[in-house]
Amino acid sequence: TKATFANLRQVDPQLGAFLNLNEDAALKRAAEIDAKGINPDNVMAGIPVAVKDNIVTKGLTTTAASKMLENFVPVYDATVVEKMRASDAIIIGKNNMDEFAMGGSTENSAFKVTHNPWDVSRVPGGSSGGSAVAVASGQVPVAFGSDTGGSIRQPSSFNGVVGMKPTYGRVSRWGLIAFGSSLDQIGPITRSVKDNAAALNMIAGYDQHDGTSSKQAVPDFTAGLDGNVKGMKIALPKEYMGEGIDPKVREVINNAVKKFEELGATVEEVSLPNSKYGVSAYYIIASSEASSNLQRFDGIRYGFRAKDVKNLEDVYVRSRSEGFGDEVKRRIMLGTFSLSAGYYDAYFHKAGQVRTMIINDFNKVFEDYDMIMGPVAPTPAFKIGDEISDPITMYMNDVLTIPVNLAGLPGMSVPAGFADGLPVGLQLIGKAFDESTLYKAGYAFE
Ligand code: GLN
Repeated sequence: TKATFANLRQVDPQLGAFLNLNEDAALKRAAEIDAKGINPDNVMAGIPVAVKDNIVTKGLTTTAASKMLENFVPVYDATVVEKMRASDAIIIGKNNMDEFAMGGSTENSAFKVTHNPWDVSRVPGGSSGGSAVAVASGQVPVAFGSDTGGSIRQPSSFNGVVGMKPTYGRVSRWGLIAFGSSLDQIGPITRSVKDNAAALNMIAGYDQHDGTSSKQAVPDFTAGLDGNVKGMKIALPKEYMGEGIDPKVREVINNAVKKFEELGATVEEVSLPNSKYGVSAYYIIASSEASSNLQRFDGIRYGFRAKDVKNLEDVYVRSRSEGFGDEVKRRIMLGTFSLSAGYYDAYFHKAGQVRTMIINDFNKVFEDYDMIMGPVAPTPAFKIGDEISDPITMYMNDVLTIPVNLAGLPGMSVPAGFADGLPVGLQLIGKAFDESTLYKAGYAFE
């Protein structure tokens, strides 16, 4: 733990992966674990971990990278954090992110920019950019992010690390500051597939505090990592390899196809015809849910309150106007509009119907295949400043990850190669609650 902080002080000033550190408590905890002795069956004991700053940590400032929560110190731990503590993992600090997890570059943080360690002029992706950088730069072996539309997988792809978005319901959302509640999942980011499986073992499972968490049995995700994918049937959606995908990214994925074939799997082209509507449906659904979830930030109950306010309405309006950043306000307006009387049927209801069509597309493919593969993102990491003033371009980066959230399926990014010296991730998509197949395939591939 001491070495982790010493290294972090060397490395992080250039990268900005962390917003706040847990140094005193972490050192105390490490000494306690030393004193009681490490249980050899507990693989996470003493392991330094980092946590995205939208996951609440008791006694440790949790901001969601928003001015709204700049000084917010939670009075309880998220269930995943409770599980980390119970496993004797050491919480090192909290990672930078896009404000309230809205974004794909970590440039929407109210506090700082995070740099991609492969090329510091480029973004780390987002919204879990700080978590991916903390792992890619060797500051911690495990970090936890959240993924609503791609926020674990896309930064993992941009940083050359392994990132898993588990099946919706696999991991408790209790204590995750809500963005799109029907889409959000917490998941691990690591250097290797095996580490990732061990980290998911630690946080998965039913939780009575989260009514959407599943009672489905949790297997040992590290079991079955034997490199054998002979006979595995893999689908490659043609929509994931077409127009808009950088040819150099396509080449990396084609090489991955060859590798799986050499390993004895079969890879066949399929179609997910409605995936092209995913981005449109997602931005209505996610923003609608966000506009509702963010109502609690009213200047009364939590966080930031504007100064010199005259009356109650002034408290609400000025606190929210000054406390939220531009992207968050954009989502609140979009969501509120989509849910309002007269527009609900045309937008929110319609988006729900599109979501069902996307689910049906996946179900059809999974009748014949064990897994789906394709790219995570259309391009490698882009330059800081290049896309931030163009929300639609930024939104389109998630075209390949969003359908997986809409369908609630597990999706993983595994490092697959490089384009112009920048990492490119391979996305593996599984049947609901079949993370094991993704880990098995990812382990054979990496
Ligand atoms: N980039 C997407 C968005 O801005 C996804 C974010 C996420 O997964 N948290 O909504």
